Amino acid sequence: AADRSVDPIPEPVSTSDGRSIEVAANVAGREDVERAAAMGADGIGLFRTEFLFFDRDEPPGEDEQFRTYRDALETVSGRVIVRTLDVGGDKPLPYRQDGTERNPFLGSRGIRLSLADQSDLFETQLRALLRAAATPSGDDLAVMFPMIATVEELDAARERLHAIAADLTAAGVDNAVPELGVMIETPAAAFVADELAARLDFLSLGTNDLTQYVMAADRENERVADLQDPLSPPVLRAIARTVRAGHEGDAWVGMCGELAGDPAVTELLVGLGLDELSASPIAVPAVKRRVRDLDASAAAALADRVLDAATRDEVRARYADDSR
Ligand code: PEP
Ligand code: MG
Repeated sequence: AADRSVDPIPEPVSTSDGRSIEVAANVAGREDVERAAAMGADGIGLFRTEFLFFDRDEPPGEDEQFRTYRDALETVSGRVIVRTLDVGGDKPLPYRQDGTERNPFLGSRGIRLSLADQSDLFETQLRALLRAAATPSGDDLAVMFPMIATVEELDAARERLHAIAADLTAAGVDNAVPELGVMIETPAAAFVADELAARLDFLSLGTNDLTQYVMAADRENERVADLQDPLSPPVLRAIARTVRAGHEGDAWVGMCGELAGDPAVTELLVGLGLDELSASPIAVPAVKRRVRDLDASAAAALADRVLDAATRDEVRARYADDSR
């Protein structure tokens, strides 16, 4: 018999008491985009662009990137959130980084590398994105910056984007400025989420890195695996304060870390106030099904109780009591 849990639900879903939750997909490449569409994703919540940059000797050019982003916009209906290049950390870019940082996860990665790079790596990607935003499906494009820690970094990235848009316009090239957001994946960003939200359309919680940085536990080090729990009280509180700050700043708040794809925590995440959940394509149907079955006000009460927990065991106990 067919596994009913992966039967796609093609339409958007709401909770039983009518709160709509966007369920999107995380993708890295054309096949993933097609899979996301087939699985009934409402859009792309995280388009990882790293795949375009690895396994080659030179970065992809503007036209190649433009076509990739335009094709993704044409393949899925709904919003497509493209994340600018997020290399560094455990994934050094061979033609830009020598891999000699002592603490690469605390080093030049994500937006830090994009802003520091003296070449046209970041500019080329932004030009391609601004052009893709002006194509027939371009209204659905959104762009987000990874590894933001400060308001200054966001301001610098936005300045570059607007300067490039002005250059394109001056040169007579069609372009449009897309919806903008940042990933919240450093404690620093969670602490200034109100300031970030005031400047942006959305925030997206990257719980994989946020857990690593809140807990000061390398996401790839088995010896500290026990600390890498996004359902630990410190991480849950960072998530809760981010959602609150985002909404106060009139930004919508999503989550694109692995946690968002676990249907066992969908109720908790909806209760915490998330507006969007982005998961691997295969997980989308089960998350949608779970959203349809839950009650948003009961979920909010559950989230309040879970946020009161002091330990992981208490989190689990409170969660298990309510999710039956
Ligand atoms: C995250 O950090 O949660 C995230 C979604 O980004 P990545 O896993 O690509 O670092
Ligand atoms: Mg990350």
